Amino acid sequence: MQSRVDRQLRALALAKACAACGARVRTIGHLTGLPPREALRLLFPDRMAVPRGRSPDSPEWYHGANLLHRAEASIVVALYRRLRDADFPAGEALVGAYRHYVGICQPPHRISFDRAFDLAAHTDGLWLTDTRSFSLVTCPTCHSEFLAAYGSVARSNDHCPFCKLVQRYGTDTRVQGAFPVQPLAAPNADQLGMLVLLQLAASPSNEHLAAPMAGQHRP
Ligand SMILES: [Zn+2]
Repeated sequence: MQSRVDRQLRALALAKACAACGARVRTIGHLTGLPPREALRLLFPDRMAVPRGRSPDSPEWYHGANLLHRAEASIVVALYRRLRDADFPAGEALVGAYRHYVGICQPPHRISFDRAFDLAAHTDGLWLTDTRSFSLVTCPTCHSEFLAAYGSVARSNDHCPFCKLVQRYGTDTRVQGAFPVQPLAAPNADQLGMLVLLQLAASPSNEHLAAPMAGQHRP
């Protein structure tokens, strides 16, 4: 059992992490239970820095959003789902997923933290609503997970944003900019050692190593 002080510390740590991701006061309130006035006082001493604007409403937005928005929305929710499946509490899973998304996708990031919160809420029927509006489905062609209307089954790749991105990649500079080709990472010392071993094993002068590697039995 968590003590009251533990719960409060956890709520404050989560609130601070949300604010660092650009969360609105209302979103922080939903995620942590912190009263808006308290969140404002603790997290936004500079009132000019308080994030403003209309809250996102994703069930309508997603189906009319452009390809890059749908792809990035699907990435955030897929990362969130993975952390939830690993038993992280929903608030921490959302912050972890959002940080990971910012780390792997190119700026400008099309999904704000508030949007990510709204998408996760409408996928799990959580925080804002009891109603689920999205399911995370797996594309039968590229095996990526993407957001679709709740209860849908992906029988084809017709609605998969990732298959469409691949189709457009050659001709659309915006898509190329969002998902640039990454240079291959230089292998580290351990990997180099493993490569040398594999090469030795594959070389004909090392039949004693080559045989088990190739799964063959020598007479
Ligand atoms: Zn696909």
